[in-house]
Amino acid sequence: MNKNWNSKEFKIGVLGGGQLGRMLIQEATNLNLHIHILDPDKNAPCSSIAQSFTCAPLTDYDAVIEFGKDKSLITVEIENVNIEALETLEKSGIPVYPQPRVLRIIKDKGTQKEFYKEHHIPTSSFTLYENKEALINANINYPAVQKLRTGGYDGKGVQILKDSSNSFEDAHLIEELVDFEKEISIIVARNKGGEISTFPSVECEFNPEAHLVEFLFSPAEISADIEQKAKEIASDVINKLDMVGILAVEMFLTKSGEILVNEIAPRPHNSGHHTIECCKTSQFAQHLRSVIGLPLGDTSLVQAGAMINLLGEKGYTGTAKYEGLDELLKFSGVYPHLYGKEITKPMRKMGHITITGASLNEVKRTAEAIKGVVKIIA
Ligand code: ADP
Repeated sequence: MNKNWNSKEFKIGVLGGGQLGRMLIQEATNLNLHIHILDPDKNAPCSSIAQSFTCAPLTDYDAVIEFGKDKSLITVEIENVNIEALETLEKSGIPVYPQPRVLRIIKDKGTQKEFYKEHHIPTSSFTLYENKEALINANINYPAVQKLRTGGYDGKGVQILKDSSNSFEDAHLIEELVDFEKEISIIVARNKGGEISTFPSVECEFNPEAHLVEFLFSPAEISADIEQKAKEIASDVINKLDMVGILAVEMFLTKSGEILVNEIAPRPHNSGHHTIECCKTSQFAQHLRSVIGLPLGDTSLVQAGAMINLLGEKGYTGTAKYEGLDELLKFSGVYPHLYGKEITKPMRKMGHITITGASLNEVKRTAEAIKGVVKIIA
C-alpha cells in the first residue's frame, strides 16, 4: 500500500457517514488522514467535517462504484452497503477492508450463525426456516428468539416468541433463548500482517424495552479466566474470518460460565466508544491502523469507564434541543459527545456520554448521578 498514507492523495473512502464515521474522522485528523464519506443523508453527522461528502445511496451499485473508483482504500462504518460494488472495486485492485466476502457472511444473521457452526465457534443453537409456513409447522421449543436475517439493528428485528402466533413475516432465523448472566463484548483488530490485538472486556446493560445498549462499562465484572477466554474467542473469530479491520464480538456469558457468540460487527461499535477516553488507543484509531496496515496500538485501559447513550426523548420529533448540558459539564471526568443530528426522534441515538474514574465503583456512582441530567427534546 501507498507509503504516503497521510498525504492528500491517499484518499480513504468510508461507506456511511453516521456517528461512527464522525468519530473516525475526529481520530483521523490527528494523523492528517483524509476521509471521504458516502452517505444518503445530506445532513449526516459526517457531512460537515469530511474531506469530501458524497450524498448517494450506499446500497446502489453505481453510486458505490462511482464513489470508490478514485479511492486509495475503502472501509465501512455500516454493514448495509452494496457488496457487489465493493467486490468489483476490490477486483480492480482497490483494497477494501473489511473484505466484501466478510461483509457478505455478516450481513445475513443466518449465514453468520452458519459460519460459527461450521468453524466451531460457540454460539446458541438455531434453525433457519425457508418461509413462515415452515416456521409455523415446525416443532419449536418456545420461548425462542426470532430474528430478521437482514436489515435489523439496535434490537429492531429481534423478538422473543412465546408461540408462533406473533412471529415476523419475513424472519426465519430462530434461536434458542439464552438464559444469560451477562452480555459482554470484546473488540478485536487484525491487520494485513495477521497481527491481532484485543481491547479489554466491556459489559453491556440493555434497555429491556428497546433492546438497546443503555449503559456499558469497562472492564466487565468477570473473572480473569473468563476475560481471557472471551479474548481468545474474539481472536479466533477474526482469524477464521481472515478479516482485516476491527470486529466487535458480542457474547453472552451464561449462568454456567459458558461463552456464546451472539453477533459480530466488522466496524467500530457502540460498545467501544469509551475507548476514546479510557484506552491508550481508541477503537477508531485502531480501525484506521488496521485497515491502513500500520502497527496496531496498545489497547490497555488507562482508567475505568462507562458509556451512556443519549437517546431522543419519547414523545418528541423535530429539531433537537439539548437540556441539561451545562449541568452535565460541571462533573469531572464526564465527556459528552453530540453527533450533530439535526432531527431527534424517540429513542434515536443522538450522542453518548463517557464517564471515567479511578475505579469502576467511582464510575458507576457518577453514572448514577448524571443519569437523566441531559434530555433531548424538540
Ligand atoms: P441487533 O443486531 O439488532 O443488535 P442482537 O442479535 O444483538 O440484535 O439482539 C439484541 C438483543 O436481544 C441482545 O443484545 C440480547 O439482549 C437479546 N438476544 C438476542 N439473541 C438472544 C438469544 N438467543 N437469547 C437471549 N437473548 C437474546
